[in-house]
Amino acid sequence: MTYTPPLEDHNFVLNHVADLEAISKLNGYQHADPATVATILEEAGRFFAQVMAPLNRVGDEQGSHLGDDGVVHTPAGFADAYAKFVQSGWPAAHAPADWGGGGLPYVVGVVIQEMFKTANMAFSLCGMLTQGAVEAIHHHGSDQLKEKYLEKLISGAWTGTMNLTEPEAGSDVGALRSKAVKQDEGTYRIFGTKIFITWGDQDITENVIHLVLARTEGAPPGTRGISMFLVPKFILDDQGNPGERNDYKVVSLEHKLGIHASPTCVISFGDSGDGAVGYLIGDEMTGMHNMFTMMNAARIGVGMEGLAMSEGAYQRATAHAHDRIQGRPIAAEATDSVAIVEHPDVRRMLLTMRANTEAMRGLLYLTAQSGDLALHVEDDRTRELHGKRLALLTPIVKAWMTDLGVEMSSLGIQIHGGMGYVEETGAAQYFRDARIAPIYEGTNGIQAIDLVLRKLPVDEGGVVETLITDMTNILSEMSDYEDLAQFSDELTTAIQGLADTSAWLGGRLASGAIDDALAGATPYLTQFGTVLGGWIMAISAVAAKKGPAEHSPGFLTQKVNTARFYGEHLLPRANGLVPTIKAGNALLADATL
Ligand SMILES: Cc1cc2nc3c(=O)[nH]c(=O)nc-3n(C[C@H](O)[C@H](O)[C@H](O)COP(=O)(O)OP(=O)(O)OC[C@H]3O[C@@H](n4cnc5c(N)ncnc54)[C@H](O)[C@@H]3O)c2cc1C
Repeated sequence: MTYTPPLEDHNFVLNHVADLEAISKLNGYQHADPATVATILEEAGRFFAQVMAPLNRVGDEQGSHLGDDGVVHTPAGFADAYAKFVQSGWPAAHAPADWGGGGLPYVVGVVIQEMFKTANMAFSLCGMLTQGAVEAIHHHGSDQLKEKYLEKLISGAWTGTMNLTEPEAGSDVGALRSKAVKQDEGTYRIFGTKIFITWGDQDITENVIHLVLARTEGAPPGTRGISMFLVPKFILDDQGNPGERNDYKVVSLEHKLGIHASPTCVISFGDSGDGAVGYLIGDEMTGMHNMFTMMNAARIGVGMEGLAMSEGAYQRATAHAHDRIQGRPIAAEATDSVAIVEHPDVRRMLLTMRANTEAMRGLLYLTAQSGDLALHVEDDRTRELHGKRLALLTPIVKAWMTDLGVEMSSLGIQIHGGMGYVEETGAAQYFRDARIAPIYEGTNGIQAIDLVLRKLPVDEGGVVETLITDMTNILSEMSDYEDLAQFSDELTTAIQGLADTSAWLGGRLASGAIDDALAGATPYLTQFGTVLGGWIMAISAVAAKKGPAEHSPGFLTQKVNTARFYGEHLLPRANGLVPTIKAGNALLADATL
């Protein structure tokens, strides 16, 4: 497996879509100017391409295994690569500086994460969940918990996990049954079975820190009664070092379609009957709120997997399309066969992959930019606007991008023909790995419900309206360039279509026809993502037309062409969804299933 980090595109999108220059002027981010960031990314790219990417295939073939010793054993080379990862400081790159992190902006952090995910998605999950644990402890943990755990988690010396799911509690987390019994000295004893726990155990660090949702005695049913606990694999001794083994057991690992290197564990807490020692994070019954701190970042992290699998699949498919000689060009009446990259249909598939990948990258970085502005900008109104925009975009990043990741990696197989369906080319692995992303971290159906029921109604639709107004601003800039005229027309129509369906759904919610809104939620999310992609590609096209000196003319021409392909070939699909979104629930409700 090889991976070439698309550094020029990373820098282009950072600087010309997500305005890194402006982010680097915010308080605390002055060290992250574009030139410094470009150097950091070059270094990161080298690391992930040389150390993590070569293990992608190994991890897929060997997988992680539960040994007779009760410990999960990772594939050959993972422990060594992880040690290098920690040593080089990458886990801490964008963690808070006050706890030993590099303090880079979120918008730079996501580029580093994107590289890790494209190089080796299964391995990257370990770091992603650790970051989630860091955020939950940083925002909600007591000073004592921060002192004991944050630095080790931030440096990557220990890893973190997220324990929500139980056999009876999947999408409905509120149904969970794990319980927490308070002890006289203030700690808790945790009992219960958690399933599907990613990187729930491993042999690469000396401790594993689980964040576990459980219900305290007497707590009400549903999400209101849930609390969050920190449960270490090894309980810390007085010096803060891992000591006694806590009372839980990894019962088994799941056999899965993809991400074989990522151990997906069934964990029994309180296995011996004593209960696993757990420390409350925040107050009792604030567990769901605290978990959302972790989950929102993780949802963006999972959305990024759609982009990563698409990028990896695109690189592989492009290489194959240049190598594979098959078929003669019909129009030229040629007698010799050519590389398949010459055929219009193969070019269509490759450009579809490239355009969607670039649109996803733009959306990801723009969303992360809102994350930075929501935290660091001084003006209250701008901070609030970006906080709400981040919340609006999160389910779209998660669901639109992961659905596309599956579609694009499937196209990657198609471009390989039969060789895509056999394992040796590696095309199939991207597809198999990508397939989990629409499921975990809240299924894509649940994301669409979140978008329509919780995000669309904010400020009576005002957050969506403001975003739509921002989108229309690019149209006047596009009018300076004749070859962007058709794209501009398509974007105008697509934005109008989005405004129309947003108003229609808002109307159904206001009139109490909730099921009509729910029936249209998923196609609405797809429409929203597709139109956002159009906006972002329009920003890219206009920026490329201005000819920034740090990029070669060849690169900029390709940016414009790819953006036009998105605008003229892919964006028109958005309005095709309008009738589906507005069809309502009647047919669905009447169907016998
Ligand atoms: C490889 C892997 C790794 C995972 N890692 C973790 C982890 O680290 N930690 C953790 O806690 N969990 C983890 N999970 C669990 C994952 O988050 C759940 O599988 C996911 O939330 C869906 O829950 P479920 O499997 O019970 O499906 P269900 O909830 O049974 O959903 C089945 C289908 O019904 C739909 N559905 C359910 N409820 C509704 C509703 N109210 N309205 C509309 N549609 C609905 C869903 O969208 C889905 O299509 C992991 C799962 C896998 C497979």
